[in-house]
Amino acid sequence: MTRLVLLDRDGVLNEDRADHVKNPGELVMIPRAAVACARLNRAGLKTAIVSNQSGVGQGLLSASMLERIHERLRAALAAEGAHVDLILTCPEPPWSDHERRKPRPGMLLEAMRHFRISPGETVMIGDQLRDLEAARAAGVRRLLVRTGKGAELQARGLPDDILPVAVYDDLHSATDALLQET
Ligand SMILES: [Mg+2]
Repeated sequence: MTRLVLLDRDGVLNEDRADHVKNPGELVMIPRAAVACARLNRAGLKTAIVSNQSGVGQGLLSASMLERIHERLRAALAAEGAHVDLILTCPEPPWSDHERRKPRPGMLLEAMRHFRISPGETVMIGDQLRDLEAARAAGVRRLLVRTGKGAELQARGLPDDILPVAVYDDLHSATDALLQET
């Protein structure tokens, strides 16, 4: 039974931007994402964002600006009665091989330790291959959403070694499927 839902941020909760979300004004929620999160909350599942934010390491935005963006995100979630229980980010630049930067599993392992929830009770929902790779490395079930870069990844074809991956149109439909299991 699933107890913890790990969420990538950009392309899952809010629209992905090629040039990074650099201030609160650039944060645009994906339709129904907050509603989906509220449903996960009400079902008693823990939710944690695990998000590479390499813009910080590249000097595109400061750590305090990232905090402000997350205040905006929390407010957008709260408007639908939703919250996330934990937000983990990795500021390392894209060329870094840091253990916390996806595709490495550091943040996912950290979130599971935080809640004392095992990989078998955890799912990862993301829109990029590195989300799925991090989940595989953490021993966690993998869900791909077609929002953000997800449709492009699905069209390119998922590599065999990352399967099985369940694919959904968006966080809302992934949530439908998850809640039907419980
Ligand atoms: Mg993403």
